Amino acid sequence: MDFQRWASLQDYNTLALPGRAEYLCTVNGRDQLRQALAFARQRQLPVTMLGGGSNIILSGDIEGLVIRLAPTGISTIPTLASEADSDRVLVCAGGGENWHGFVTHCLEQGWHGLENLALIPGSVGAAPIQNIGAYGVELASHFHSLDAIDLVTGELLHLDAEACRFGYRDSIFKQELKGRVAILTVTLALSTAPEVCLDYPELRAALADSPAPTPRQLYDAVCALRRAKLPDPAQRPNAGSFFKNPIIGSDQAAALRKLHPGLPGYPQPGGVEKIPAAWLTERAGWKGRRVGAVGVHDRQALVLVHFGGGSGRELLGLAAAIARDVRHRFGIALELEPAVLGDPSAVREGPVGAAAEGASTAESGEHAGPGE
Ligand SMILES: Cc1cc2nc3c(=O)[nH]c(=O)nc-3n(C[C@H](O)[C@H](O)[C@H](O)COP(=O)(O)OP(=O)(O)OC[C@H]3O[C@@H](n4cnc5c(N)ncnc54)[C@H](O)[C@@H]3O)c2cc1C
Repeated sequence: MDFQRWASLQDYNTLALPGRAEYLCTVNGRDQLRQALAFARQRQLPVTMLGGGSNIILSGDIEGLVIRLAPTGISTIPTLASEADSDRVLVCAGGGENWHGFVTHCLEQGWHGLENLALIPGSVGAAPIQNIGAYGVELASHFHSLDAIDLVTGELLHLDAEACRFGYRDSIFKQELKGRVAILTVTLALSTAPEVCLDYPELRAALADSPAPTPRQLYDAVCALRRAKLPDPAQRPNAGSFFKNPIIGSDQAAALRKLHPGLPGYPQPGGVEKIPAAWLTERAGWKGRRVGAVGVHDRQALVLVHFGGGSGRELLGLAAAIARDVRHRFGIALELEPAVLGDPSAVREGPVGAAAEGASTAESGEHAGPGE
C-alpha cells in the first residue's frame, strides 16, 4: 500500500482549500483498511477519513494518516423469506462509491426511493455522517444498516438505523462516534415499485405538467433544479450549504416577527419553528459579498465560495462574521454544516461551531436555497 507523505489535499476538497495530509493512502476493502490502521497505530498517528471532500473545510494541514476508500461495488442482499414477495430490496454499496453514481445505478436497476437525493456530491460512506437530505427526502428515510470499523480498536461494528441516531444533518457520527469510525458499507432499503416523493413544493411545481411523474422524471427534475440553483464546485469551489437551519421557540419567532414581519418559519412539534438560515444571511446583507479570496454566492446566501488563493482560516473568519451579524440582528445562533479538518484553533477563534444554548436545528423548508 502506498502512503504518500505531505500530500496536497487541494484537489480532494470541493472548496479547493490548501492543506496537506501528513500521510495519505487509499484503501481497497476491509483488509487494506486494517493494514492502514496498523500503520497508524505503530506510529501513533491520528486517523482521519476523507470521502469526496464536499462537506469539509480544510483549515491547514491534517496531522496523521488520512484514509480514502476506493470504490468496492454495489450488490443486493437477499431478503428474508417473509419479505420475498414484497416490493422491498436491500442494496449494499461500498463506502468509496460515488453517491450520485449509486443513485443513478439504483434508478437504472428499478430500485426506487433515492431519486430526490440525486446529484448530492460525495461518497456513499459519508452519506450517513450528516444524514444527507434534499428535496423532502433524507438518507434516514431509506436507511437499513451500515458496517464500520472502529478506527482505534479495529472492531467491526454493525449499526441499524436506531443505533445511528439520525436527526436533521446529524447522526451518532457527529456526536459520540465523531471521528471514531470508517464507514465501509451502507445498506439501503429501496422499493421495486415506483416511489415518487413530491413533498418539496419547488419539486411539485417543476413537475406540475406531469400528472403521475415517474421516478426517472423525478430524478431528471431534481438534477435540473440542482444544476440551475447550485454553483458547480468545479467552476466555483464551495461546500454546499454552510450553515444548518436553526430552530427557535415559537415565542421567540413571534417576537422576532414583530420586528421582521417577513421572517419565514416552519412550525415543528414541541412549540418550535425552523428558520431558513438562507433568509437570515440574506437579510443580514451577506448575499453576494466578497471578502478577499472568499465570499457568499450571489444567488445562494447559504453557499460560501472560494475564489482562489484563500485559506480555510479566511473562510471560517467570514463564517464567523456572518454568524455574529445574524446573532446580533436576530438573536439566532448559526451552526456550521461542514466538518472542519486540520487546525481546530481556526474554529475556536470564531463563534461558529456550536448552536447557542436553547437553540437547535431542523429540516429546512422552501427558503433553504439549495433544496436541502
Ligand atoms: C454543491 C454541493 C451541494 C451539496 N448539497 C447537499 C445536499 O443537498 N444535501 C446534503 O445533505 N449535503 C449536501 N452537500 C454536502 C455533501 O455533499 C454531503 O455532506 C456528502 O455526504 C459529503 O460526502 P463526502 O464524501 O464528500 O464527505 P467528506 O466531505 O469527504 O467528509 C465529510 C465528513 O465525513 C467524514 N467521512 C467521510 N467519509 C467517511 C467514511 N467512509 N467513514 C467515516 N467518516 C467519513 C469525514 O471525516 C468528514 O468528517 C453538498 C455539497 C456541495 C459541494
